[in-house]
Amino acid sequence: MKDKPETIQIPKPLEQLSSSELERKACIGKIMTFTLKSLSDTYVKEGFQWLLPVALSQSTDPLWPDPGASIEKRIEVDIYGKPVRTTASMIIHKLIASSTAYPKLFILSPNIRIEKAARAETGKHIYEFTQLDFEARDATSKDVMDLVEKALITLVKDLKTEMKGELTSLCRCDSLKVPKAPFKVCDRVELEAKYGAEGWEAGLAQEIEEPVWVTNIPREFYDFEDFKTGRWDNYDLFLPQFGEVLSGAKREWEYGKILSKIERDKVKKENYALVLNMAKEGRLKPSAGGGIGIERLVGWVAGVKHIGECQPFPRVPGIVNEL
Ligand code: AMP
Ligand code: MG
Repeated sequence: MKDKPETIQIPKPLEQLSSSELERKACIGKIMTFTLKSLSDTYVKEGFQWLLPVALSQSTDPLWPDPGASIEKRIEVDIYGKPVRTTASMIIHKLIASSTAYPKLFILSPNIRIEKAARAETGKHIYEFTQLDFEARDATSKDVMDLVEKALITLVKDLKTEMKGELTSLCRCDSLKVPKAPFKVCDRVELEAKYGAEGWEAGLAQEIEEPVWVTNIPREFYDFEDFKTGRWDNYDLFLPQFGEVLSGAKREWEYGKILSKIERDKVKKENYALVLNMAKEGRLKPSAGGGIGIERLVGWVAGVKHIGECQPFPRVPGIVNEL
């Protein structure tokens, strides 16, 4: 007989936590601080400039088409007589910034995505989260993979020596292993053949014992697609038992390709006028990058059942607290 799926406890707001729950919260908070410092140190050491985020823009990530997207509502407000949207991701800003004044950049970027309330119990979705979003001009997918592997290995190695007490009280001291580079790379087509088109993400996460890259995933217009072979030069990073923690890609920079993909996807062209114009003028530069979901990464390190546990003010789909 199959085990009944475990019901996930929905993270509570701070004022409702017992004293032992507050201790656990504080412990995860220390892992969060350590993680943010470790990752930002690595990126700064590697020559990336640290940009501050924006919250409102005319243009933001269409989040379409993406097989993983489940957005209930898009937030649009008028300011100064113009419509702006809350940041879904800073991908468009990264393309423009890395093509101009900031060839290598990263941002701790708050993303607002009003996920369907049915996702409350996936444990992996919150409606406000933070990405360490980064981009590097002229970089290849391999460059990005090498950098992320280095950042992750440094993080786990240092956590295991400097955060021993916290990891022990979270019961992660022994089970958290320092990953070995290079991480394995799988093609999404092979995974679909093995686990099915719907179940490959869960199947892969359950099977792996080390982080694994998955490449060639059809999605938004800005990820690079080879029109001759149909292959996408993009990648997701999967963590054991946990699943996707990063999505990234080599990017499109040629006007004709970007335009035809926007039209193919039926995305509103007028929302991407700047990217299209820059590309037309030859001012959009080739780049590659990615975004690490911070709550998911810390959630994996801490071994939480719901990533809202990594937030001081949990943003669980369907639940709005006073803070
Ligand atoms: P995406 O480009 O949509 O794949 O988002 C980049 C990364 O952000 C993902 O790999 C996740 O780690 C994280 N992420 C995306 N959506 C959510 C969400 N609803 N809640 C928490 N983290 C998310
Ligand atoms: Mg993704």
